[in-house]
Amino acid sequence: MERFDTKIINGFVIDGTGNPGIFAELGIRDGKIARIATHVDGEAGVVIDAGGKAVCPGFIDPHVHEELAALGGDTLESYLRQGVTTTVNGNCGHSLTGGDSEQIYTYMYENGLASAEAKRRFIAENPAWTGLKGYAKVLRDRGGVNINMSFLLGHGTIRWCVMGGSKDRKPSEAELARMKELIAAGMDEGAMGISTGLSYIPGRYADTEELIECAKMVAEKDGVYASHLRMQDGFEKSIAEAIEIGERSGARVQVSHYAPRAVEGYRMAMDARARGLEIAIDTIPKSSGHLKRKDRLIQFIISASNVLFGKDRAAFEAALKTPEGRAEILRSTRFKDEMLIINTGDPALEGRALRDIAAERGTTLDELLLELLEKAPDTLTFWQGGMSRVDFPGTPYNETVAGCPIVGPGSDRIFGEVFDRTAWYELFRKGAMPIFYRNMLAAGVRREEIIRRMTSLPAQQFRMSDRGMLAEGRAADVAIVDLDKFSYPDASQVSCTDPNIMASGVSTVLVNGEAAMLDGKLTGKRSGQLISMYGKRIL
Ligand SMILES: [Zn+2]
Repeated sequence: MERFDTKIINGFVIDGTGNPGIFAELGIRDGKIARIATHVDGEAGVVIDAGGKAVCPGFIDPHVHEELAALGGDTLESYLRQGVTTTVNGNCGHSLTGGDSEQIYTYMYENGLASAEAKRRFIAENPAWTGLKGYAKVLRDRGGVNINMSFLLGHGTIRWCVMGGSKDRKPSEAELARMKELIAAGMDEGAMGISTGLSYIPGRYADTEELIECAKMVAEKDGVYASHLRMQDGFEKSIAEAIEIGERSGARVQVSHYAPRAVEGYRMAMDARARGLEIAIDTIPKSSGHLKRKDRLIQFIISASNVLFGKDRAAFEAALKTPEGRAEILRSTRFKDEMLIINTGDPALEGRALRDIAAERGTTLDELLLELLEKAPDTLTFWQGGMSRVDFPGTPYNETVAGCPIVGPGSDRIFGEVFDRTAWYELFRKGAMPIFYRNMLAAGVRREEIIRRMTSLPAQQFRMSDRGMLAEGRAADVAIVDLDKFSYPDASQVSCTDPNIMASGVSTVLVNGEAAMLDGKLTGKRSGQLISMYGKRIL
């Protein structure tokens, strides 16, 4: 009689291909799916009764930033609660590659992605490492990780390392050659491609030709060019640039966190697809904007300023005292028109828009913001967005996200605050998968098609040829989901001061055949792999 490590019975299997679901059983052995059939004969060490719930491939989140969280020992619980078993890290130009670990921590710090304290702890608590394999070894020696992680190479990080900082100029021929060498080496170590962050420093200093040169090396290694677009140029021009880079380099294109309302951009992507470009899009299903404690907001303002980039808090305080410095600070503060404040300790101010408070006081928003940056305590939290961004009002959802078969969810969850969660957080991104599922369902999309967008679509795009579908021989990444209860609290149910809200509806999650979550409880098992393309592993 055939023996299995685990059997899943009583499940409604939605296999990730988009095909109609069927009632079937799964037999799992050695981390892989060994059998799928209406009835799987044979004994198993563990039998999991799915109780009629959906049995899906573990979901794949193509857009996250969790490499430092994993290194900091984060439980990554928010992913398991959503049924996510695989993530693509290193997005928006920010990655683990280009220099040694201390340079990487410094880059993350200068870009506002890790606090000064986090940087200090990462250096103190980990041996030095270089490259993806070096990182992978340190992570393994720390006990590993409970979900699969894959990685893009950040163009921003590589450019910053090669050019000796954030330089507003073209790279020299030698510098560009070195960047391409690092891309080739990173791809050989197991990266899925490169990412760019063309709204950020130093990504925004790169012209299209530089990016095409980098993408050519990615194409040679069969990788993806993933881009946080040059959003300052608008929806259409910025996606046109990504399409041009893909078509001229031969690399597949992943458009990162594209806005659900940019109707023409989705059409342009579908036209490019029809011309033969492999292009896909991820979108953040719902966002409240970021909540940043004052110390972290200051770090972000510094990171967005051509003048202050790389400088410290003292330089910021000095800038607050000069008219030019104040103008530069205001220029570098994103989303200030929609900014709210919380944790004020003053009921007259709590949860209100800066705009409204300024009007009440007969001052300008800019003056009020500067005054708060100067005098308010560091515990004050600035909310860049507010609930008003929650549902992307006016979104032609059926024409864009729902109607475009190459679009899936990407949470854009960001690491860095594993040691200090209230310093910087977001309210809805931990619910990306269930929120996407419910939005799509409301738009009339079949559940099997929705699951396909969360599984085999990203798996194909990133060439995870052994994942993203439930099929014999594929990795046993499995989520057991009560689709009727698969949900995330809505705006009326979340507290804006709570960074620990979780999704519900997922009971059991297997990662490479091992239960990382069983009946709603985290098991502590760390069977995640650091994965590369075509079933290969980084380590
Ligand atoms: Zn981004």
